[in-house]
Amino acid sequence: MRMLSAALALAAAIGFSAAATAQDYPTRPITMVVPFAAGGPTDTVARLVAESMSKTLGQQVIVENVGGAGGTRGAGQVAKAAPDGYTILLHHIGQATAATLYRKLPYNPATDFEAVGLVTAVPMTMIGKPGFAPKTMAEAVDFVKANKDKVTYGNAGVGSASHLCGMLFMSSIGTQMTTVPYQGTGPAMNDLVGGQIDLMCDQTTNTTGQIKGGKVKAYAVTTKDHVKSLPDLPTMQESGLKDFEVAVWHGIYAPKGTPKAIVDKLNAALDVALNDPKVVARFADLGTEPEPKDRRSPAFHKDFVIAEIAKWKPVIQSAGVYAD
Ligand code: ASP
Repeated sequence: MRMLSAALALAAAIGFSAAATAQDYPTRPITMVVPFAAGGPTDTVARLVAESMSKTLGQQVIVENVGGAGGTRGAGQVAKAAPDGYTILLHHIGQATAATLYRKLPYNPATDFEAVGLVTAVPMTMIGKPGFAPKTMAEAVDFVKANKDKVTYGNAGVGSASHLCGMLFMSSIGTQMTTVPYQGTGPAMNDLVGGQIDLMCDQTTNTTGQIKGGKVKAYAVTTKDHVKSLPDLPTMQESGLKDFEVAVWHGIYAPKGTPKAIVDKLNAALDVALNDPKVVARFADLGTEPEPKDRRSPAFHKDFVIAEIAKWKPVIQSAGVYAD
């Protein structure tokens, strides 16, 4: 009996301290893992949001870049972190595509995380190195088909958005290219601008400045509609690539088991960030906008990840692309 009441007292104390921890949270800096290299588009979104969230939470949200394996290294690290709200992940559409692309993923993107909220859905652009021969998307398609053994395409590894876009492109034109993987499209962009690789498809959060500065050739945008900050750029569909549509949605995650009160605090801080005029203006410069209010809740995000895994599964299976 005495042992039972001691056990109950211990359980109550643990419950109480978890509640107290959630109430005081955060009492120290939070690490936001970005599963790609610094200087790329996911990193740019994360740093903007983290800066605003730091102000709301009263503690620094520090971005840590853990690139490699198309985003699965960083995501895997957060899946195994303590569920205390001090390690969180900002990842993109790769959270859904990796579930099918990887035969052996050491974590489950649908069940090993608490969804905190969606951030932004970013259009992608197909771009070429300076001086690349094709002038339009249609010419680029012909050029790739005619030079398939020579054309190189940079991406951020299997599971990245640039990989997904390249995979859709190659399957829709029925031609392969040589892909060159990087830890993120920040470093890949350096090589594209330097002429070491020929083509890349990347988020406008990385490409807008380079396109406007004339550092790369821009061919098309991957969304159904034009991008306001790049109004002259045609869509892939207008360029003859039927049904080609992809936007890179980003979300924040905490490890599974993070108390709901902590997830809600993070979500509230994210919500403030997405209403922050500085964030909204910077997003607009970079060709994107915050997710609308009705898509920002943890519940919406959780269901969205599951729906996106189901959406991309048949596409990946029909392309027959897998990684170990
Ligand atoms: N844009 C990259 C991707 O292709 C990732 C990055 O470097 O942010 O997924």
